[in-house]
Amino acid sequence: MTHSAQPVASLFIDGAPVEGEGPALPVLYPYTGRQIALLHEASANQVALACEAAARAQPAWAAMAPADRGRVLSRAAAIIRDRNEELSHLETLDTGKPIQETRVADWASGAAALEYFGGLAATVTGQMIPLGRDWAYTRREALGVCAGIGAWNYPSQIACWKAAPALAMGNAMVFKPSEETPLGALKLAEILIEAGAPPGIFNVVQGGGQVGAALVTDPKVAKVSLTGSVPTGRRVYAAAADGMRHVTMELGGKSPLIVFDDASLDDAVGAAILANFYSSGQICSNGTRVFLQRGIAERFLARLAQRLATIRIGDPLDPDTQFGPIINPTQAARIRAAIAAGQDAGARLVCGGGGEGAFIPPTVFADATDDMAIARDEIFGPVMTTLTFADETEAVARANATGFGLAAGVFTQDLTRAHRVVAALEAGTCWINAYNLTPVEMPFGGVKMSGLGRENSAAAIEHYSQLKTVYVGMGAVEAPY
Ligand code: NAD
Repeated sequence: MTHSAQPVASLFIDGAPVEGEGPALPVLYPYTGRQIALLHEASANQVALACEAAARAQPAWAAMAPADRGRVLSRAAAIIRDRNEELSHLETLDTGKPIQETRVADWASGAAALEYFGGLAATVTGQMIPLGRDWAYTRREALGVCAGIGAWNYPSQIACWKAAPALAMGNAMVFKPSEETPLGALKLAEILIEAGAPPGIFNVVQGGGQVGAALVTDPKVAKVSLTGSVPTGRRVYAAAADGMRHVTMELGGKSPLIVFDDASLDDAVGAAILANFYSSGQICSNGTRVFLQRGIAERFLARLAQRLATIRIGDPLDPDTQFGPIINPTQAARIRAAIAAGQDAGARLVCGGGGEGAFIPPTVFADATDDMAIARDEIFGPVMTTLTFADETEAVARANATGFGLAAGVFTQDLTRAHRVVAALEAGTCWINAYNLTPVEMPFGGVKMSGLGRENSAAAIEHYSQLKTVYVGMGAVEAPY
C-alpha cells in the first residue's frame, strides 16, 4: 500500500474519466499534510456536460425493469465488499480517519445502501384507487437528473447514500464531493460502470462552492441532495427554489444526549464517547451537549476521563490507532479557538484541549451553561460539552432550546420515561440507550435547521421520485353540452 492516490483523471463524465479544465485541486493527506494527488476542478462547461450526459442516459435507465436496475446496484455492493481493504486505505488517505474506522464504517455502509436499495427497487409499486365504474392509479416516477453534493467527513458513504436511492428509482446523478475529499466518489463511478450501469448514470465533478452552485442551478437538474453545514444548506435551498427543484438537506447539529441518574454508567459513558470522538468528532449527528442528571454527573465525568486516557491517537494507517487528525489545519485552528472560548467563558476543562498541528485530543468540558458558545454552536471536532440538570422537564426544555434538530439520545432504565422523553425531543433521529448507529434500514435526517427529507430506508424513495396520478375512464363521456 502506498501513499499515492492519483486517480486516472479528476472527473467522471458519461462513463469515462475526464481531466478537469478548472483550477488545480491538490489533495492532502491530513496526517502528514503531504500532497497525495493533484486534481483539477470542473469548468462551468464541464458541469453542464455532466448534466447533459446524465439527462441523455436517464430515460433508458428509468425504462429498465426495476429489478434489472437493482441488480446493477447489488453487483456494485459486492465489488465494494470485495475491495473493502483497498478502498478503506484510500478513504483513510483522503480523510485522515483511522483505518480501524474506515474498514468498518465508510465503504461498508455505502455497500449496505447499494444492497438495500438494489433489493428495494423492484418492490416499489403504485396504488389502485377504485372509483365505481372508473378507477385511478398512481405511478412512482423518477425525477430525472439529481445533483448530489457531499461533505468531507464520510465522503464515500455520502456518495453511496445519495446514489443508491436515486439510481434505484431510475434517476441519473451528478455528484460533487467535498473539495477536501474528492477521491472516493471517483471510485464509486468506476465501480458502477463495472457493475453494469450505463454511461452517464453516475457522473462526478470536482470543485468547491462555486462548482456546487453551478450544479444546483443547471437547468437539467430536478433535485438537489446536500450534506453540509446549515449556512450552505440555506444557500443551496434558496438557489434550488428558483427552479422549483426538490431538495434533501442533511445539515449540521448540536445534538443533546440526556443521561438520567438511573442509566447504566458504562453504557452511557461508552455512548457519549461514540457520540463525540469517533472520526475525531467530525460527525453531524454527534451528541455534543451531554446533559447529566446531578446524581450521576461526577461519577460519569470520572469514568469518562479514565476511559479517554486509554485512547490510542496517532498514525491513521496503523490498525491500532483509534483517533486521527482533523481534516485540515484551518479546521483544527477553528476547533482550538472554540476550546479557548469555552475556557474563557469559565467552563471546566476535564480533559483534552491543546494538541499539535492537525491533532486535537478528545476534549471534555464540565460546568458549562446553555448560553456558552461551546453549548450552542456546532464545533465539528472532538469537543464534548457536559451540562447538569435536575429533572426531566428541565432536561427536555433545555435540550430543545436550539435551532438545530438533527439527533438526540436518552439514557435511562425507565422504559416509559425513555419513550416520553424522545417523543418530546425536537430531533429527526433519536436513540434510546444507544447513540450514532445509523443502519440503512432506518430513516436518517433532521428537523428544524438541521434539514429536510430523509436518507436511507424506504422513506428515501419518496425523496427521489414523484407521484403521477392516472384517472382511467371506463365508459361513455357525459358532457353537459
Ligand atoms: P460545507 O457546508 O462547507 O460544504 C458541504 C458541501 O457543499 C461541499 O461539497 C461544498 O463544496 C459545497 N458547497 C459550499 N457552498 C456551496 C454552494 N453555495 N452551492 C453548492 N454547494 C456548495 O460543509 P463541510 O464543512 O464540508 O461539512 C461539515 C458540515 O456538514 C457540518 O455542518 C456537518 O454537521 C454537516 N454534515 C451533515 C451530515 C448529515 O447527514 N446531516 C453529514 C455529514 C456532515
